[in-house]
Amino acid sequence: MQNVRVLLIEDEDRIREMIKDYLENEGYIVEEAENGSVGLEKFKVASYTIILLDVMLPGIDGWTVCREVRNSSDVPIIMLTARGEEYDKLFGFELGADDYLTKPFSPKELVARMKAVLKRGKGSQNSNEKSIFEYKSLWINMDSRKVTIDGETVDMTPKEFDLLSFFVNNPDKVFTREHLLNKVWGYEFGGDYRTVDTHVKMLRESLKRYRSIIVTVWGVGYKFEIGG
Ligand code: CA
Repeated sequence: MQNVRVLLIEDEDRIREMIKDYLENEGYIVEEAENGSVGLEKFKVASYTIILLDVMLPGIDGWTVCREVRNSSDVPIIMLTARGEEYDKLFGFELGADDYLTKPFSPKELVARMKAVLKRGKGSQNSNEKSIFEYKSLWINMDSRKVTIDGETVDMTPKEFDLLSFFVNNPDKVFTREHLLNKVWGYEFGGDYRTVDTHVKMLRESLKRYRSIIVTVWGVGYKFEIGG
């Protein structure tokens, strides 16, 4: 991994040093922060490829750091949580965390997760987003908002298309209903989650045999996944 700048926010010296040593050996550039406020300061003055963020930190906790970072950046965030702590997945995804790991984890596993998160991040961060998406005989033109299957036009409502294009631009990433309401409908809060479920149902019906590209992640939300 070339030029990947990691911001590691972790208060336990032993764990922080272990992760730093391992990542540096793997060729990553690692900046350390021993608490949330130092982490946020470092985040504000430099740019990072990915953030590794402990949940339980003295002072400002990891959740708050995550929320602060998301106010200004889409940088991938992997939350680190201690064994025995009940990690609230839903809450983490709502705050915009990309993944999480429970301690103790092997550094090897951490690197695998980092690579996965960085890989899928590329699709959405790429500035020259493709305007045509093709998968087998499913064809989507983002600019003309046209969808065809086997060359036949698929009729869908504007919101179905918005939802579909959001998923296509953010593959393999799980979104909560709240996040989808926010991103696709623009509701800040107070939206009805059933709106999302109804549209996912309609979208799947429109996609016919490609319906399974919209995957239900039980207890969390939905994701777009192809080729499995
Ligand atoms: Ca901690």
